[in-house]
Amino acid sequence: MNMLTDNDTISAIATAVGEGGIGIVRISGNKAVAIANRLFSSKSGKQAARIVSHQVVYGDIIDPESGETVDEVLLILMRAPRSYTREDVVEIHCHGGPVPLQRILELTLVLGSRLAEPGEFTKRAFLHGRLDLAQAEAVIDIIRSKTDASLKTAVGNLSGLLSTEIKHLRHVILSMIAQLEAAIDFPEEDIEEAAAADVAQLIIQVQADVDKLLATAQTGRILREGLATVIIGKPNVGKSSLLNALLRETRAIVTDIPGTTRDSIEEYVNIRGIPLKIIDTAGIHETTDIVERIGVEKAKALVKQADLVLLLLDASMPLAPEDRAILELLAGQQAIIIVNKSDLPPLLDFTALEQYSGNRLVVRTSITLGEGLAELEEIIANLVYQGQVSQGEAAFVNNVRHADALRQTNQRLAEALATIERGLPPDCVVVDLRAAWEKLGEITGDTIGEDIIDQIFAQFCIGK
Ligand code: GDP
Ligand code: ZN
Repeated sequence: MNMLTDNDTISAIATAVGEGGIGIVRISGNKAVAIANRLFSSKSGKQAARIVSHQVVYGDIIDPESGETVDEVLLILMRAPRSYTREDVVEIHCHGGPVPLQRILELTLVLGSRLAEPGEFTKRAFLHGRLDLAQAEAVIDIIRSKTDASLKTAVGNLSGLLSTEIKHLRHVILSMIAQLEAAIDFPEEDIEEAAAADVAQLIIQVQADVDKLLATAQTGRILREGLATVIIGKPNVGKSSLLNALLRETRAIVTDIPGTTRDSIEEYVNIRGIPLKIIDTAGIHETTDIVERIGVEKAKALVKQADLVLLLLDASMPLAPEDRAILELLAGQQAIIIVNKSDLPPLLDFTALEQYSGNRLVVRTSITLGEGLAELEEIIANLVYQGQVSQGEAAFVNNVRHADALRQTNQRLAEALATIERGLPPDCVVVDLRAAWEKLGEITGDTIGEDIIDQIFAQFCIGK
């Protein structure tokens, strides 16, 4: 690969901007050690070239021009190939303020390094075969993960769970190709036919495996972005109380998701590791009739945008026309019906409710008494994980690019099946299978263009 040849030396500040206890400047490439030698003076007088790899040394960074001490630091040298990039890497751990970090970075640049592009360290790790592409992308996901659950899936992918599964499927496809190609060499028609029949069976299995991976993609998106949740119900049923109860109960409230501002009407709560992005119906819930107030179309749009609707009803009141209107809005929508105020004398007619609610999940709560909330959380968690994914342990698709490649793989496989069914010769089937094999390879980066690789690494922040 010609991309491997440009191993000039790069450096960047590897820690977050702003003040911190420590900050790290990272240098990678064949000049890393020489640059560190010019800058670093250990307390015991050793220079970086003589510093043993993978040991922490204490010393000073000294400006070679002025002789002035810039900062006291800890320096770690990691000689190739036992480093993140598989090149010589030097990490300088200095005080965390922006000033020492900037000064040290500048000194490395003056001495012949260049500023790293976003994600360039990880890109080098990929180009040198230390990580495959799916693993490199997991690094981005780890940096961005907002919840325990999304962190776990990203860590799982970094350790290669998804890559292992993809490699296995590619191996199966290759063996199908081999089987067909062997059959082509035989003149007997029936050997070709038998091979095609075998392969057709295998294709169906691989398609099922790909579908399983795709089924995790929706969960992956939710873990990444939050489950868009709308709480609706007529005035006074307990919507604000529910939101407050959820905010109170769920310890880790996710606050640093981009787009949340003070005047935003979105609140994040964390239910069993799942971030719920609750779109508070603040503006509309203190009115007599939500449908009248905001209009049927707007109410519908609000509900349609949601991944999950929580509809509150009041157990102490008969089902009202507004309740029925809202129930009708829920057609085709994932929704949970919460019958609240179950501590009060019941007046809600459950038979009438069933008529409108169909077979939706109904949970009875008393928010005042704190009853039914655990059950509600259980139901929400089950809906998201669909009872089939145990987080972090299975291969997980939490990346749009991967999901797209998987979908296209299954299309190619469907074409291969159709080719077999039409009784076309094995080499036509091989063409389709090869296309599927290549699509899968795009996930791990085995078959992918340089431009796409550049795009992926451009999403990283500088220093990673
Ligand atoms: P919203 O208008 O739907 O947001 O309803 P609120 O959350 O403001 O609640 C309306 C009233 O119902 C408040 O006085 C709450 O204290 C009360 N309330 C909420 N949940 C319950 C419950 O489970 N039982 C009883 N008895 N009262 C409740
Ligand atoms: Zn309210």
